[in-house]
Amino acid sequence: MPSYLPNVLRPANPSIVIECARTHKQVLCDHLFRESSNGQKEYVDKHGVHIIVGQYMGNGFPWNPQPNLTKDVLNENHYSPMKTFGENGSPVYVPSKDRSKAKELFFVNRFNLMASDMISVNRSLPDPRKAACRMKRYNLDLLPDTSIIVVFHNEAWSTLLRTVHSVLNRSPSQLLREIILVDDASDRLFLAKDLEEYVDNLSKSSNIPINIIRSKKRIGLIRARILGAEKALGKVLTFLDAHCETTIGWLEPLLQRISIDHKIVVCPVIDIINDQTFAYSRSFDSHWGAINWELNFRWFSVGHRELKRMRLRNYDQTSTYPSPIMAGGLFSIWKKYFFDMGTYDSHLEIWGGENIEMSLRIWQCGGRVEIAPCSHVAHLFRSSSPYNFGNKQVGDVLYANLIRVAEVWLDQWKFFFYKLNPVAASIRKENGTEILSNIEQRIKLRETLKCKTFGWFLENVWPENFFPFKDRRFVQIQSMHNHECLQRPSNGPNPTGKVITTKCALDIYGPQGFVIPVVNKPGFIMTDESVCLDVNSADEHSPVLLIACSEFDRQKWTIHPKTNFIVHQKSKLCLTLGKRGSSLLLIKCRPDHNRQRWNIRDNQWSP
Ligand code: UDP
Ligand code: MN
Repeated sequence: MPSYLPNVLRPANPSIVIECARTHKQVLCDHLFRESSNGQKEYVDKHGVHIIVGQYMGNGFPWNPQPNLTKDVLNENHYSPMKTFGENGSPVYVPSKDRSKAKELFFVNRFNLMASDMISVNRSLPDPRKAACRMKRYNLDLLPDTSIIVVFHNEAWSTLLRTVHSVLNRSPSQLLREIILVDDASDRLFLAKDLEEYVDNLSKSSNIPINIIRSKKRIGLIRARILGAEKALGKVLTFLDAHCETTIGWLEPLLQRISIDHKIVVCPVIDIINDQTFAYSRSFDSHWGAINWELNFRWFSVGHRELKRMRLRNYDQTSTYPSPIMAGGLFSIWKKYFFDMGTYDSHLEIWGGENIEMSLRIWQCGGRVEIAPCSHVAHLFRSSSPYNFGNKQVGDVLYANLIRVAEVWLDQWKFFFYKLNPVAASIRKENGTEILSNIEQRIKLRETLKCKTFGWFLENVWPENFFPFKDRRFVQIQSMHNHECLQRPSNGPNPTGKVITTKCALDIYGPQGFVIPVVNKPGFIMTDESVCLDVNSADEHSPVLLIACSEFDRQKWTIHPKTNFIVHQKSKLCLTLGKRGSSLLLIKCRPDHNRQRWNIRDNQWSP
């Protein structure tokens, strides 16, 4: 993959995919995503940059027939590196004679295990840093030391140890207090004694303590991280997933930032390891993490506000910038601050939502979440989860976690979350008592830490949000011509393109939900996933499309209650329903033109 292309979303809640999986409507669901050549989902964002979307398909996704993996296959360590394979982050292609075996092995960890096993645990990676970052000098004596904490459950040998070796090879040893591997009840044989012996030797030869902590019971990644943190001796905790590869100079910018500000979570830029070829590619710059209406994690371009701040700093490309939400797996935090802030919600199960919980908690309770652009760590993104979620589906676990996050941190916005996520609402109704057990502790923590509201977070940390916040309205937009409602093209992560009109839903229905400015004030007409009504040109007859919100004036509209017009501010032309059904255009406003008249129906989302 060329280096300017990719950015990755943390595989997050694929509610639509889960819906598809539940209803087995494969054909209906396939159109939602365009498959790229490497099998990952992608779309093009507002800068013309490809966004690759991690989507978890869940276990046993209907059109992902899983081979019956025998115990022998699962327990075999296939690591057998070939000279030069994957060096400098280059892709590895499995020889055609081995393809069917590779396909079978893919299901062990949901990545190309055979390719990974052909690459040395010591492989090299290119230096992805900008010149300004490379020139930066750090006084290591002034930086705190850190414990590197890697939690894993049935990780492959090659990816786990490549994570460890990359840390040893590319971090100043005086900053490494230790490496802690937390084994979350793995049952692969090679992760038992073999791993212990290997790690002991590695620890001796590198002079860095490397310890394995074992949990006998499966505790999930959240409690596994807490376990690692409790045992850590370093001043700072640095968490990594078990399939990461750090790049040169990754650690210093994290520790430098944290040495100045103690109330902070600092994340590296997350580069990409391809799940098929293990090719390394650099992520693009100036993106931050946020959430959509379903509390799925998303990457968006940083807003104008931040760009302006960057300009004020003379585009100092080495300085960190804020991120409303963090991706989750990779970050540094002072150990004391981690515990002072209540670690994690330990009742979050197995996987998911913990990144949102932590980000909201840190921001709302007086801290900051930032990205250090000079620090790059590659992460292996995959499109389905390999884990056993007990008797539950990945979606159920994730929803249960998100429900806890919403109940503790979202105030009245939790009702918005439930309204937009009927699946979450019904899970809350059915299993609320169990899901919300011991939640009082977290609510109390919020009080003790004197945390601010989610509204404060939206207003101050993420004013670029597309929630129906403050003086915005949350509405359905109904044509007075055909009486249908505007609807965004799909509920997937890429609802850009043509707006359709369709029968108005009686209750709140996400795809028909729009956030608009109050009457007579120009503003944006937004919907979920940060897309806005936009025009490519201000000429009459230009099509009106949904395009990623850019804060540009050409996305500004004014709602006129008397005439029922929606006027494009720049062109003074009217939003008009096209002749052939559903397309939208800009046409000169005419008082008698029914295709230009819109009935704005307010959605009531709070009780
Ligand atoms: N993990 C764990 N226990 C679990 C599930 C995950 O220790 O029950 C570990 C996993 O091995 C990985 C980290 O948690 O190191 C994050 O999980 P994963 O990489 O699957 O999440 P993603 O990066 O896809 O969000
Ligand atoms: Mn991961």
